[in-house]
Amino acid sequence: MRTILGILFLVFSSISLAEKEQTVIVISMDGMTNNVWEMPELKFFQTIKNKGIKADYMTPVYQSTTYPGHVSMATGVHPNLHGILHNSFYDRKTGFHRYPDDANLIDVPPIWILSEQQNIRSGIYFWVGSETDWHGWEATYKHSPFDEKITEEEKIKQIASWLDMSDEMRPRLIMTYWDGIDSIGHTYGPDHENVYHQMVRQDQMLGLLFSELEKRNAWDYITLLVVSDHGMTSVNKYISVKSILDEIKIDYRLSSGPAVAHVFISDEKERRAAFKLLSEEENIDVYQRGNLPRSFHMDHPSRTGDLVVTTEAPFMLTNYATDRPKGMHGYDPNHKDMHAIFGALGFNVSTGNIGPIHQVDLAPTIAKLLGINNTDHMQGEAIELRLSD
Ligand SMILES: [Zn+2]
Repeated sequence: MRTILGILFLVFSSISLAEKEQTVIVISMDGMTNNVWEMPELKFFQTIKNKGIKADYMTPVYQSTTYPGHVSMATGVHPNLHGILHNSFYDRKTGFHRYPDDANLIDVPPIWILSEQQNIRSGIYFWVGSETDWHGWEATYKHSPFDEKITEEEKIKQIASWLDMSDEMRPRLIMTYWDGIDSIGHTYGPDHENVYHQMVRQDQMLGLLFSELEKRNAWDYITLLVVSDHGMTSVNKYISVKSILDEIKIDYRLSSGPAVAHVFISDEKERRAAFKLLSEEENIDVYQRGNLPRSFHMDHPSRTGDLVVTTEAPFMLTNYATDRPKGMHGYDPNHKDMHAIFGALGFNVSTGNIGPIHQVDLAPTIAKLLGINNTDHMQGEAIELRLSD
């Protein structure tokens, strides 16, 4: 009897040893456009499409640029609630922030903070907002500062060694930023063959990650989410908001992204003059802060301009003659070329296609997969990855 119990104990304990707790890996590929699913030569994107779930597209936030997008994916809220309106922005109280690396500028907790607060370890290999602690909390494992020279191979190596840690130490939420096509897309435009080659390279990196997961039988407990922060479109016309404003003598602060510019003017008379001047310009729209469409989700208490200027491709806002990219993003997120990607594969993921989802849905989805609480402030909805037939 004792022997049978002993054998049973061994059987059960080996089962419990073999079962690892669900782990989520999020890969964000900067600027990866939503046509990846229609390219049969991208073998590993095709694997996701055929064996996992892909969304028709993921709508980014406005303005559809890297910092706002990544922070919205991590927080589940739009830029008006997290405060990162663009890669660089101006705050009435604290001044200009250019490519800031201070997580405390984010008004709500990133998902890895919520995760850590619930004793679920996280490993973050470059994600906007992970560089510093957030009010005393931070990811257990992180790489900072951001270094563009670090290759995807190195990131994958790190992910693999995180997975090899003991269950107690292993991060169960892993998030990592990949190059995607962003930089090449800006230089050459989205339709250039160099962008195509970079897509192939990113697909190969996805393949390398898959093989590391397979080596470890990790698909049994890994849910992989592959996303991008925005798309990319062609531009060839450039508008300088600064040059327009300099036609009149006013005291202003300007924080300009490629598609949205915030103009801060304290004097009311000067503000009216600037509004009139900008309204007369072609190819841009100008809003007084109070009249910003709510759907933009752009009205932050201290970082939204008194006037907000927007434009659409092929125009882009730039104040520098040397800044003439051929590809750009940042525009109205409903513009098809701005659409980002969403794919899921692995543990607890069915096979199928889902309709459009939104960038703010990512954090609630991660929260649901890992059982993370305190998400009531999030504006998105958890994406259903287990489809019923
Ligand atoms: Zn980006």
